[in-house]
Amino acid sequence: MASPPGATRTIIHVDLDAFYCAVEEKRDPSLRGTAFAVGGRADERGVVASCSYAARRSGVRSAMAMGMAQRLCPHLIVVPTRHSHYRAVSGGVMALLRSITPQLEQLSIDEAFLDVTELVGDGNEVTGRSLALEIQRRVWDELELSCSLGVASNKMVAKIATDCGKATVSTGQSPRALCVVEAGTEADFLAPLPVSALWGVGPKLEAKLKELRIETIGDLAHWDERDLAHRFGKHGVDLAKHARGIDRREVVTERETKSISSETTFLQDVSEWETLHATLLEQAQSVSFQLKKQKLQASTVKLKIRWSDFSFSTRQTTLLSSTDAAPAIEAAATTLLSKLWIGGEPVRLLGVGVSGLSLVRQLGLFDSVDEPEAVPEEIEEPEEIELDSYMDERRQRLQETLSLLEARFGSAMVHLGAHPKHESH
Ligand SMILES: [Mg+2]
Repeated sequence: MASPPGATRTIIHVDLDAFYCAVEEKRDPSLRGTAFAVGGRADERGVVASCSYAARRSGVRSAMAMGMAQRLCPHLIVVPTRHSHYRAVSGGVMALLRSITPQLEQLSIDEAFLDVTELVGDGNEVTGRSLALEIQRRVWDELELSCSLGVASNKMVAKIATDCGKATVSTGQSPRALCVVEAGTEADFLAPLPVSALWGVGPKLEAKLKELRIETIGDLAHWDERDLAHRFGKHGVDLAKHARGIDRREVVTERETKSISSETTFLQDVSEWETLHATLLEQAQSVSFQLKKQKLQASTVKLKIRWSDFSFSTRQTTLLSSTDAAPAIEAAATTLLSKLWIGGEPVRLLGVGVSGLSLVRQLGLFDSVDEPEAVPEEIEEPEEIELDSYMDERRQRLQETLSLLEARFGSAMVHLGAHPKHESH
């Protein structure tokens, strides 16, 4: 059972430390403690998919070109990526976590939220912290993998807690951080952090907020909520809530809706409508083809854009009736593109997807064959967080800003918050 609405929840966010690297270290223990990166070779224009903490000390980061990584760290060992193996190991981790609670939402290959509300309190000794330590110990004992955890009353704060815990460790070894934010102290915990630590605050919004001299989450929390709503619409309303540490999003145990999608990563970022639109038409046709092949129709069309800074934006729209027809998917996706892509920003990836799938019913004699119309709606989360590299990018920015804060105010500043100290075990 999910926790009842309104009750204080206990959410644990689990994030494996340098996951691909940890898996490679298990395979080849001689890699332990060395500067190495998993990814494509530099002479094949490869990119760093994951890098060891020793490599990070030389400035190597995920999503960095491997050539650049090797310039920063001349002794860097490059290990080829083995995705299917990582997926298998990830399956083992998720199974272990599910044995603790089925209330699990997998966020990416190496991250998950657990709603442990039902397991804590009520006279027993179990707390969010003790459960988190138990998870950390079991993941290590049973799978030889190191993980960091954040514990809080909601998903957003739990995830930020993990990020903060990890960012404050720079030993060159797996952070194994644990950061607990007690209920009622969320806003205090968030206040000194940069606004970019919040979900949905990408570089563009960060720059706009900076113009208003809003730099920390605390600045944002003190800003007039109506003014934020006025400036940023629904997103502004969410921002005001999130800045105060309020996030009501539930742990979603499984993706109820299967989805079909088609995505294109451009060789060079694209800023021309014609190219984007032509790509979108091809994608709509491909999605329609896959739907027809599986005798399915979809009720929701979604557009996804990855910007040149690796952040994502998505919009979706619900159709008046389900369809498998390319023109209907095209029309809906085009409307979404015109809403999402306003300023001519360079686009790195474009994708069209459909969900809300149902089996095609036989068309009755009097059924209309008109194409359904699209009813645009904005989805809850303005940015989708799903790529490992994207998160590492965010984490990197958070780390950089934390370092700045530290330089400016001393390390006490960075450790401010309810339960500032992480614990290493
Ligand atoms: Mg990770």
